[in-house]
Amino acid sequence: MAEELNPFKIAQEQLDEAAEIMKLDKQAHAILREPMHTLVMNIPVRMSNGKTQVFTAFRVRYNEARGPAKGGIRFHPQESLDTVKALSAWMTWKCSLADIPFGGGKGGVICDTKKMNDKDIESLSRAYARALGDSDMGPEIDVPAPDVYTNPQIMAWILDEYMNISRKKEWGAITGKPVELWGSAGRTDSTARGGMYVMREAARMLKLNPKRATIAVQGFGNAGRYAYTLSKEVFGAKVVAISDSEGGVYDPDGLDLDKLDEAKKKSGSVMYYKSKKAKKITNEELLELKVDILIPAAIENQIRADNAGRVQCKLLLELANGPVTPEATKILFEKKILDLPDFLVNSGGVIGSYYEWVQNQSGDYWDTEVFYSKLDKKITQSFNETMAMQKAYAAKGQKITPRMAAYIIAVDRVAKAMKARGWY
Ligand code: NAD
Repeated sequence: MAEELNPFKIAQEQLDEAAEIMKLDKQAHAILREPMHTLVMNIPVRMSNGKTQVFTAFRVRYNEARGPAKGGIRFHPQESLDTVKALSAWMTWKCSLADIPFGGGKGGVICDTKKMNDKDIESLSRAYARALGDSDMGPEIDVPAPDVYTNPQIMAWILDEYMNISRKKEWGAITGKPVELWGSAGRTDSTARGGMYVMREAARMLKLNPKRATIAVQGFGNAGRYAYTLSKEVFGAKVVAISDSEGGVYDPDGLDLDKLDEAKKKSGSVMYYKSKKAKKITNEELLELKVDILIPAAIENQIRADNAGRVQCKLLLELANGPVTPEATKILFEKKILDLPDFLVNSGGVIGSYYEWVQNQSGDYWDTEVFYSKLDKKITQSFNETMAMQKAYAAKGQKITPRMAAYIIAVDRVAKAMKARGWY
């Protein structure tokens, strides 16, 4: 991995920049530059073929000053400790910006689930839970959730193993569970839905009519597919381009969900979508389309110094984690594109997880309307606070990006909690 694209280096650079702007205490800065707890585990798993395979796995609790660690578990062949460290830092800022009582955490296992059967995925998930045990996981310690290539079923296996160890029915030990195991109504699409509430507020600020706006979405997984359906359902907006890892499709008249699903199912990619005006495009071309709103919802480092100059949207919603590099952030800012940062835009996922945890801890379960209206209120508040912080600095003659404004709010809250606890 090129050093400038190392996610943990990027996370540290972002923190350093915020620390300088907000004149953060040097001791607080030193604590916040590194994760507080890093677990690297080599886990032997007896596979269904009778052989034992050793998997390298990670769990990082970045900072717990404001509450138990919170963050997903990734099962990915290219997983690395630096990626997990970066994501755990971003979770810390995300939970803080959303003002929910969690610190930041993240986990990962180096594995290729596409080459594993369900039995082996279950064995690995249970072994991961055993490696953490009830001293490194639990509703008051560290609360994992699904992430790339993990899902509610995997959360259920991990929870079952955890309960075997702890001998306690602590449903809040993990979130993103199936509803049968007290997962929350509304949690599944909460990342994209939260992003849509941010889109509504930002569009209002930019005087863009979402009903008339054109939208391009990169990614057709949990985040991207729901961003597509909700843009249409909730706002009546027109999504003109979408992609997956193979490539994308553009139709100026808008795209139809059934046809997208059909192309994906039959031919393996949305790029094979058929309509009168449909045109195949690459992922690079999608990012450079002349649309009002661009939603990267796939993977990190998609908009970099080499292509940021060609991005043409008015509003960029970072629904993926880390899709825009620090250099690209500066270029977009100079081009006056409103680039809203990942840990604001995709915080609906962790806010949804928080609501699941609250329901598990209290035993009081809500319907989707309650869930959506609380989510809307919370994420709208984060957006308003971010914009207000940017304005406050502008009033002092200092132009800062929305990312830095969000960082300043999040870092300040964590620093104040550490100070109150006497850590510095
Ligand atoms: P997913 O695995 O469900 O979907 C990922 C999508 O990205 C797939 O459509 C895949 O084809 C596409 N993709 C993969 N490589 C690509 C490439 N090189 N170019 C273009 N597209 C590519 O994952 P997801 O849950 O939708 O997560 C997507 C992003 O959103 C990640 O950055 C994730 O960390 C972030 N995110 C997701 C959630 C959530 O609740 N799902 C919450 C917060 C953040």
